[in-house]
Amino acid sequence: MEFAVISRGDEVSEAKKEIVTQYLNGQGFNYNQVFPRVVIAIGGDGTVLQAFHTYKHRLESTAFIAYNTGHLGFYSDWDNVESLLEAIVDSSLITVEYPLVQAEVEADGQTVTYQALNDVTIKGVKGSVQIDVRLNNHHFESFKGDGLCISSPSGSTGYNKSLGGAIVHPSLEIIQLSEMASINNRVYRTIGSSLVIPKHHILTLLPKADTYMLSVDHESFPVESIQQLTCSVAKEKIRFLRCRSFPFWNRVKEAFISLNDCEPRGGR
Ligand code: NAP
Repeated sequence: MEFAVISRGDEVSEAKKEIVTQYLNGQGFNYNQVFPRVVIAIGGDGTVLQAFHTYKHRLESTAFIAYNTGHLGFYSDWDNVESLLEAIVDSSLITVEYPLVQAEVEADGQTVTYQALNDVTIKGVKGSVQIDVRLNNHHFESFKGDGLCISSPSGSTGYNKSLGGAIVHPSLEIIQLSEMASINNRVYRTIGSSLVIPKHHILTLLPKADTYMLSVDHESFPVESIQQLTCSVAKEKIRFLRCRSFPFWNRVKEAFISLNDCEPRGGR
């Protein structure tokens, strides 16, 4: 089996990368950075985002393993390298699929499509922004405020959670729209709650100004002459290879409430 490893680059992650690579090579697996069937992300959630964006063009044939070496590691199932290697060699991993956000940006007469594992955000370059929000091509509200965040279920614990959005189990194929500091008064009015939007429904954002800051997961960049941003649940999903013993709600509890009383991650 072809595999690749992406490390956060710190000393601990690099050392684990070396162990994983040497061991799997010795077991007849082939290191293949271009066409891997399995990508092992060693680090934290930032490393998982990096791995996803490196291989998002081959989601059909590539699965991901998230190995935590500190920081939060919300996506990670593993923090014991021996157990992980044993599980890979024994093929005792299970596959789970998580939905992604698809965002089509129309700017300057061109359409560019992005996929996000966590979220897409749109903000102003300076000050507040005005954005018309349409659902399935019907006007819903006119937003004015700092910006908007469109998250996936697994990204709902990221930026979306800080914005007061709901935490969504990744078995639900939805995207969520959350407001960043909306202005609500006699002149401007928005719903004020996050909206959970199902598969096949289309969210269209029509910005009023010209240049906006867009973020797709960990990357952010300015987009000039933006006409509209269309978001939906992506057709493709990301596949993670996991151990059975670390369900999503345990992951949420461990990350945000308490490390105690939680079922262990794989191999602990
Ligand atoms: P970062 O600023 O270096 O780290 C953001 C923090 O969020 C890290 O602790 C990271 O975990 C954690 N994280 C990432 N994805 C998560 C998820 N799905 N659930 C729970 N926690 C998560 O940024 P980054 O590592 O490049 O990640 C980019 C993400 O940061 C964005 O997609 C967005 O969701 C989030 N973000 C949040 C805020 C906010 O809450 N105010 C603002 C901007 C961006 P690790 O330590 O394990 O990497």
